[in-house]
Amino acid sequence: MTTAAYDPNNIFAKILKGEIPSVKLYEDDHTLAFMDVMPQAPGHLLVIPKTGSRNMLDADPAVLAKLIPVVQKMAVAAKEAFEADGIYIAQFNEPAAGQTVFHLHFHVIPRHEGQPLKPHTGGMESIDVLKANAEKIKAAMDE
Ligand code: AMP
Repeated sequence: MTTAAYDPNNIFAKILKGEIPSVKLYEDDHTLAFMDVMPQAPGHLLVIPKTGSRNMLDADPAVLAKLIPVVQKMAVAAKEAFEADGIYIAQFNEPAAGQTVFHLHFHVIPRHEGQPLKPHTGGMESIDVLKANAEKIKAAMDE
């Protein structure tokens, strides 16, 4: 089975180019972290590499080597910011696995005991709530 090529006009590529807005949390030369607009729980964030790949299957291992430490950094900050019991890290490859945006990304989602996640790509959160949650995560990163 063939897989489609990376599309440089996907929505996360547009965020990287500044063509559409995002609520940013962290940025360095290789990586961007920002709030998911349809959070499955408060504090749900995404970590993406600046180098485009469709997903893990076509990613350069050197890109992953820069990306994963930021996933860890964001997971630690999100756990602290939301006093979470745990952190769910998810990453989907191709539609059959649930992928809807075809630029490699890791979901980082605070989890609390007994609290179910909202559906994947469910309702949009208000920008004010996303910004307030982003401030909590950024404050935790500064500690
Ligand atoms: P998936 O490709 O299924 O792993 O998930 C894509 C994720 O991107 C979903 O959780 C969406 O809520 C999220 N998403 C889609 N568009 C945007 C956007 N413009 N800004 C932030 N998050 C987005």
